[in-house]
Amino acid sequence: MAPTQRLSAHFTLAEMTHSATAARKGIANVITPEVERQLFLTADRMEGVRALLGDKPISVLSGYRSEAVNKAVGGSKTSAHRTGHAVDFICPSFGTPAQVARYLAVHLKSYDQIIEEFDQWVHIGFGPGARRQYLKARKLAGRTVYSGIG
Ligand SMILES: [Zn+2]
Repeated sequence: MAPTQRLSAHFTLAEMTHSATAARKGIANVITPEVERQLFLTADRMEGVRALLGDKPISVLSGYRSEAVNKAVGGSKTSAHRTGHAVDFICPSFGTPAQVARYLAVHLKSYDQIIEEFDQWVHIGFGPGARRQYLKARKLAGRTVYSGIG
């Protein structure tokens, strides 16, 4: 499947598999057919997010991460990015990451996790758990600390 291939109306395979860190370190973000299938579903969920945010452009910072890429970015071993279930993104024309996260946490019917990460982007996970967890991640003495919000 070509990287320019659309997964949905507004999301491409290229953006859902791009990693600035991987590119810089020359690590290939290898996808499997199973991950590819999941990315279509995740892109579809992201269309729902985009519509809810008033059809404003979304910039995907990180989607799927192979084991090597996840290691390179210091991601959690159990990260939903590993299976293509999670997306880190911003939507500046809607608002700050905190505003986007808060809005989605209230209005999005189904999700597993929404995390405001380091005041820089929103992490959304569509894992099968659908726990509707809303968290904030901060760095404290070099460690990532999560706290619950509402
Ligand atoms: Zn994330």
